[in-house]
Amino acid sequence: MILILVGAPGTGKGTQGKLLAKKYNIPTISTGDILRAAIQEQTELGKKAKSFIDKGELVPDDVMIGIIRERLDADDCTNGFILDGFPRTVKQAEALEKLFEKNHLILDHVIGFDLPEEVIVKRLSSRRVCSKCGKDYNLITNPPPPDMRCEKCGGEIIQRSDDTEETVRNRLRVYAEQTSPLIEFYQSRGKLRKIDADGTIEDIQNKLVEFLENNK
Ligand code: AMP
Repeated sequence: MILILVGAPGTGKGTQGKLLAKKYNIPTISTGDILRAAIQEQTELGKKAKSFIDKGELVPDDVMIGIIRERLDADDCTNGFILDGFPRTVKQAEALEKLFEKNHLILDHVIGFDLPEEVIVKRLSSRRVCSKCGKDYNLITNPPPPDMRCEKCGGEIIQRSDDTEETVRNRLRVYAEQTSPLIEFYQSRGKLRKIDADGTIEDIQNKLVEFLENNK
């Protein structure tokens, strides 16, 4: 199964992607996670990506397309994968389409996560993540332990540097300008399924699984 998750930051793509990956035993490929790991490891890619991420801007298309091209070649992708955060521009989507064609891969569905902006801003300002394994927490809906140590790996739980109010606003603007045209791109290819992403993690997961099971 090959899925693409599209939606503004804070709509729950990452959380749902990880749950679906577990259920269907395929990897979830989050370009945001790949870039954050590169920043932590201080690689050349990390150094390049940091200035864009900190401002809430997109990392250049050619860099991102190169990352995905390499990642999809890995052995764990042979039974399918879930893309979370890629593509983010029409140029990336076109490059991905060419890559699928070349590798004889068939995209099953694109899930479009819909959520009102006020809910997104509230969610992102209360979002916390483990700095080591990336596990998501939320001060309101899924509070971290009092010592702020990850219950999965013991890493420190922090606020992402791009979840500050100013950067969030910029990320939403960038989403509206550069990423939302993907909705039409995939709609025109008959691949898009929109879902209302306002609900509990379990409710949304159930909705997704029901859709995927009925549309194999
Ligand atoms: P995310 O974790 O998906 O919210 O991504 C965090 C940040 O990483 C974004 O705000 C961008 O700066 C960068 N990023 C992640 N994926 C992409 C992509 N496909 N294209 C360009 N920049 C990206």
